[in-house]
Amino acid sequence: MPDRRRMSGVTERETLECPSTGGKADERVGGLAGRRWWPWYWLVAALCVTVVIVLMAWSMTTSVSGTVSSALDELTGREETAFTAEDGALPDDLSVTAFDTHYPSIARMDEELLEAVQEASRDALEEGIVLHVTSGWRSEAYQQHLLDEAIREHGSREEARELVSTPEESMHVTGEAVDIGPTDAADWVIRRGAAYGLCQVYANEMWHFELLTEPGGECPARLPDAAD
Ligand SMILES: [Zn+2]
Repeated sequence: MPDRRRMSGVTERETLECPSTGGKADERVGGLAGRRWWPWYWLVAALCVTVVIVLMAWSMTTSVSGTVSSALDELTGREETAFTAEDGALPDDLSVTAFDTHYPSIARMDEELLEAVQEASRDALEEGIVLHVTSGWRSEAYQQHLLDEAIREHGSREEARELVSTPEESMHVTGEAVDIGPTDAADWVIRRGAAYGLCQVYANEMWHFELLTEPGGECPARLPDAAD
């Protein structure tokens, strides 16, 4: 016949058997404490490792990078530098125009380029199109940050370079490039920009313009992408 006590819970068995083991009682208590506490440590450790692995897998496979990667950055001790208006960062809500010169990104643009964009903006507005500046001048550090971000996002430096230039090559760093949005505004500049000297430079960036001709001149052929 099966031992009923053995079939019942561990606690009951220990309670029942403990007193009868005499001199071994302390050992029993130790053993019991060990069995009670060690599993908790292991459980917590395993839980932490699982959470980290899940977070890493998540941020690698999806684009919820924002919160997750900054949480990961904290976990891994990597420092996330916050770029401000002083570095040429602009709010990404299409609230900035070429007349908002209190932003360094606008104020530090090449003077001739800024005047061209302002003139184009006035004329576009008469046709009901608002030209917004999504990016003008950028600091070297900010440009490098954008390149690093693109490398992380696209997985390789080669692919990232097709969209983001290095600080050494970027015309944004010298203040000689401007990004215009939204689509209807960029489209207006593509069609009408040459009258102001504004030319689309890269076929894969409909928003990026530089002064590449005399006002009223002809824009040079576009390059395939920023890596060329
Ligand atoms: Zn650009």
